[in-house]
Amino acid sequence: MNSISSIENLTDDMLSHLSRLVKHNSVQGPALADKPFGEGPAAALGEALCIADEMGFSTVNMENYCGYAEMGEGQDIIGIVAHLDVVPAGDGWDTDPFTLTRKEGRVYGRGVSDDKGAIIAALYAMKLLRDSGQPIRKRIRLLMGCNEESGSECMKYYVQHGEPITTGFTPDGYFPGIHGEKGLCSMTAYSKNTHILSMNGGFVTNAVCSHCVTEVPLTCVDPVKLEAAFAKTPLVSSSVTVLKDRLHIEAQGTAAHASTPDLGVNAAAYTMWALKEAGMQDDFVDFYLSHLGTDCDGAGIGCKFADDYGALTFNNGIVETKDGTIRCTIDIRFPVTLTAEKLKAMATPHLEDAQGRIEIQHIVEPLFYPEDSPLVQDLYRAYVEVTGDTSHKPMVIGGGTYAKSIPGIIAFGCEFPDTDNHIHDVNESLDIHEFQMQTAIYLKALQNMLAE
Ligand SMILES: [Zn+2]
Repeated sequence: MNSISSIENLTDDMLSHLSRLVKHNSVQGPALADKPFGEGPAAALGEALCIADEMGFSTVNMENYCGYAEMGEGQDIIGIVAHLDVVPAGDGWDTDPFTLTRKEGRVYGRGVSDDKGAIIAALYAMKLLRDSGQPIRKRIRLLMGCNEESGSECMKYYVQHGEPITTGFTPDGYFPGIHGEKGLCSMTAYSKNTHILSMNGGFVTNAVCSHCVTEVPLTCVDPVKLEAAFAKTPLVSSSVTVLKDRLHIEAQGTAAHASTPDLGVNAAAYTMWALKEAGMQDDFVDFYLSHLGTDCDGAGIGCKFADDYGALTFNNGIVETKDGTIRCTIDIRFPVTLTAEKLKAMATPHLEDAQGRIEIQHIVEPLFYPEDSPLVQDLYRAYVEVTGDTSHKPMVIGGGTYAKSIPGIIAFGCEFPDTDNHIHDVNESLDIHEFQMQTAIYLKALQNMLAE
């Protein structure tokens, strides 16, 4: 069977089905009695199940948390785990974000790439597989969640109430597949005794603190020495203003994602560094520099570690002062071959001394399938067979995908290497040829997984 030519013949149908999903603004809304994520996600789920039903698949709605379309038979379930909710459209679109619009080989609309297009590609891959007459001795379940963008409560519900997925993928990442996702650990550092009057900076835990405002008593540090110290930092800018009895300090660094903190310049960390360099004697300045520091490697809490797939990263995102205590958020991405237990054992002896303390908030285990595991190989072979591209390989990332929310799967597509579909941005779009390729790749992937 030449799947690409069959898919070309089906493309108009695929796009009209996609337009039925795009027309629902499925941003999370206020919870209703039987719609945990509000009207929009439930309407999109209803539409998707209706399309799947029209295409001849059996469908189940799991209380509007998620739903699935299924075919095949047997105990094992090959899962394709996608999502129907979207992020807000935002202003500045060239077309109506909720009307699928076709222009020069692309279609535009919120969710066409993330992740409604993937749902249609998966449904048509299932249809082509069924129509081929090949025996299907496993169940193939397209599981559609309604809350990926706001906490993945949909998959928590499925894991509690649904049958386990044996193996599979989520088309909510990149080709040619993500075989590892680093573990996540969040911590908070607290001052015990400090002369710092206030220190506030950063907006989110998962980005480098790029701007920080600090006030210290004039008696603690010489402003001239402090300015000289700031001049030695990589900060974009800084200012030291003498007020009546205090110094008002502003520092501007560079933002970066918490998974790549070395690409940023942390305004809080370099403020601490400059205070120390200028001669300030302070417990929390010392604690910050010895435990958090300006390097982003976790060495200060005994966690410096790297494996073949990358190093542990350490990021201070937010600094706040409340009732005289300074509080700093810490976002750690730890290598795929470490475990939460090992990380805890490495960190615990270093988390408290007389000058400050750090609390572990939350740890998420890494996700890792070796490159030579059947799942990674089945998916990668499908990608290579359809695209001919062998230069890109399955990857390990520091961020997390939908794959982390349910056991047994990895992220595979649907964005191709070197393409930018403006996911989460205005003018989100999808190349129609790539949409066809996604479908062909998912068909091959299902065939490869069925053969296991
Ligand atoms: Zn997504």
